[in-house]
Amino acid sequence: MAIMPGASRVQKFSGNRHKRTVTKIVLHTTEGSSWPGYGGGGSAPHFTVKPGKATKANIRQHIDTAYSAKALVNRSGGVETNNGGCVQIEFVGSCDRAYAKKHGLFFTEDADDDDLASLAAVLAWIHDEHGVPLVIDGNLDWPTTNAAYRTAPQRLSYKAWNEYRGVLGHTHVPENDHWDPGAFPIARLLKLAGGSKPLSGGSPLVTGSAGKAWTESPRVNGFSKAEITSIQNVLLGFDLDLGHWGADGKYGDTTGEAVQTLQAELHITPTDGIYGPGTEKAVMTIKSDIAEIKKNTSSITRDDKQVSLRQELADTKTTVLELRKELDWVRRVAEANQKRIDKGNAQTGPITRHGKEISLRQELADAKTVTIANAGGITAIQKSLDEADVDATEAKVPDKIQG
Ligand SMILES: [Zn+2]
Repeated sequence: MAIMPGASRVQKFSGNRHKRTVTKIVLHTTEGSSWPGYGGGGSAPHFTVKPGKATKANIRQHIDTAYSAKALVNRSGGVETNNGGCVQIEFVGSCDRAYAKKHGLFFTEDADDDDLASLAAVLAWIHDEHGVPLVIDGNLDWPTTNAAYRTAPQRLSYKAWNEYRGVLGHTHVPENDHWDPGAFPIARLLKLAGGSKPLSGGSPLVTGSAGKAWTESPRVNGFSKAEITSIQNVLLGFDLDLGHWGADGKYGDTTGEAVQTLQAELHITPTDGIYGPGTEKAVMTIKSDIAEIKKNTSSITRDDKQVSLRQELADTKTTVLELRKELDWVRRVAEANQKRIDKGNAQTGPITRHGKEISLRQELADAKTVTIANAGGITAIQKSLDEADVDATEAKVPDKIQG
């Protein structure tokens, strides 16, 4: 028995015997808006999932995953499809933009993270239950149209299908002619499945080839061709050499080596050539720094001359140093005020404000309110501190502004 805890069992069907070990997850789209009947189970997947939260209302398990499902075509000869070691999921919606629009269906290519939560939970559970790695072969194409025929180029060979380990679509299955789930946001789905908690139990998942040399397949986890192209453009932006291939959307040796070089330059470990979250974070930080500096450069004109980036950087550094000094000063004054407040704390009994007796607790609460109101900026703080010199018990600069 292999039933996902928390999944609805209102539409149960029987399965056949797996003829290969389960190593694959096949994604479909229903091309409709409701729960399909699947001809009484004759064409049923293991799961049907509606976009949204990972709840019983959105997840139905039809067939025990210890048995095989029936949503694929299996022709005589060739390979086993349904029984060829896969778990099948139908996602409710349409992968065809025009069709979805015409019939008012959920367009699956546009699914955001919230829409994918239910599907991600199912993937996470299958990973836990069957050890299917939550990866895709980065070389797979996920075409959006004109792919509805048996010999379409995105389909796997018999051998590749039998050996595949990871997630793929109906569009890749040999002997079949459907092209769902189209250009599915597959990389995002895999990320969600790796980071999100399954409905019940389960552990955070390994989303890919961490620890593997990048020359092994799959070289990258869950990246589409478009995403690899975007990574390659980042590499080119850092003046890294991609040879005559350029940004071709394929994560080959040259791209792997360029990523390794970048990782070495940015002191990211391991320098494994895999463009993972750590590498992306470092790149994003540098990009935003550069954008900031560029913004400053364009807004500053000095003696009607364009200021060099180097000069601008030096000046920025000076500004930062001045800002630090100012913060140091604010901190010193704040400490002095804190001492006054502490001293006030040591007193007992009420104090007088504007000729009215108030509790010390009230006085401190008011001081805190004033401080928060003034936390908007250094100028505001300074003003507040100047006033605080006059009114001794006022103005305490919050710790988080310091340092
Ligand atoms: Zn399908």
